[in-house]
Amino acid sequence: MSEKKLEETVPKKQEKEPEEEEDKFEKYRKAGKAAKEVREIARKIAQPETPIIDICERIESELLNKGVGLSFPCNVSINNVAAHYSSPLDDKALIDKEDVVKIDFGTHFDGYIADTAFTISFNSEHDKLIEASKKAFETAIEMIKPGVETRVIGKKIEETIKGYGFRPIKDLSGHLLDQYVLHSSKIIPNISIPHGTKIEEGEVYALETFATTGSGTVTEAPYAYIYSLMPLRAPLRFKGSRQVLGLVQKEFKTLPFAERWLAKKVSKAGLKLAIRELTEKGLFRAYNVLSDRKGSLVSQEEHTLIVLEDGCELTTQ
Ligand code: MN
Ligand code: MN
Repeated sequence: MSEKKLEETVPKKQEKEPEEEEDKFEKYRKAGKAAKEVREIARKIAQPETPIIDICERIESELLNKGVGLSFPCNVSINNVAAHYSSPLDDKALIDKEDVVKIDFGTHFDGYIADTAFTISFNSEHDKLIEASKKAFETAIEMIKPGVETRVIGKKIEETIKGYGFRPIKDLSGHLLDQYVLHSSKIIPNISIPHGTKIEEGEVYALETFATTGSGTVTEAPYAYIYSLMPLRAPLRFKGSRQVLGLVQKEFKTLPFAERWLAKKVSKAGLKLAIRELTEKGLFRAYNVLSDRKGSLVSQEEHTLIVLEDGCELTTQ
C-alpha cells in the first residue's frame, strides 16, 4: 500500500539495544515469509470472473492462517485504479479478462510489517506495462545501500519506466516502515525530486514502483474503504461510534483496516454512521481510492527490504 504524498516528514530516531535490533529484524522476516508464500497463492486465485471480494478475503485468511497479523486490508486495484481499493461490504465487482490487476497486501508480526504487491493480466498486450514497473523495481533494488540518496533512486525509476514508453506515478512512493507504522517518515520516490534523504543501514522500506499509460498523477475518489486511527480525542455523539473506536484501538492500533473487517465484529446497522462520525471528527483517517485518468492502465511492483551494510535483503521475495 502506498500513500499519496511526495514529501518527507521530519524523521524521528529511536535508538535500540543491539539484541532488540536483531529480534526486530527476525520479526520483519517472519512477516515477510508469510507474505511471500501468499504471493504464490494470490497469483492462482486471481482469475477472470472471480469476485474481487473473494480474492481479498481469501488472501487475508491465508495470511492469518500463517500466524501473522494483517498490516492493512488486501487491495485489489483494477486498471486505472492505482491504490486503496479493498472490497466494500457486499462488493459485486468481478475480475474481467481484459483487466490489469494490482494485488497489494501486508502482514505484521508484533507490529513489524511486510508490504508486497504485484500485477497480473490475462492479455499479453499488457506485458510491457507490467514489465516496466518490475524492471524499475529491480533496478532500484540494485541501488539500495547505506548512503544512497533517495532522489537518485527515484530518478532511475523514472528513467526506466519512461524507457518503456510509460510514465511513473509521481505522487505514489515507497516508504519507510516502523513498528505499527505503515507509512513512516521517509519515502523513496518514483521520480526525480530536488531534495531527499539518504538510505541508512538498518532501515526497513517498502519499495514500490508504478508505471502508467495515463498522466502519472492520481486523484482521490470521493469514497474510501480503508481507514486508520489518528492520535486524536474528540467527544462522540453516537454510542456506535464509541464502540467502533474501542474495537479499532484494541484490534488494529495504528494500522489501516477495512470497513469489511468491522462488519464482522459489530452490527452493520450503525457501522456506516459510526465510520462517518469518526472520520468527520478526525479520529479516523480515510484512504480514498486513488486513480489515474479514466481509460488508463497502471502496473505496480512492491517488496519489503532491510537495508544491510552493503546492500539489502528482501523479506517478501
Ligand atoms: Mn503495498
Ligand atoms: Mn507500500
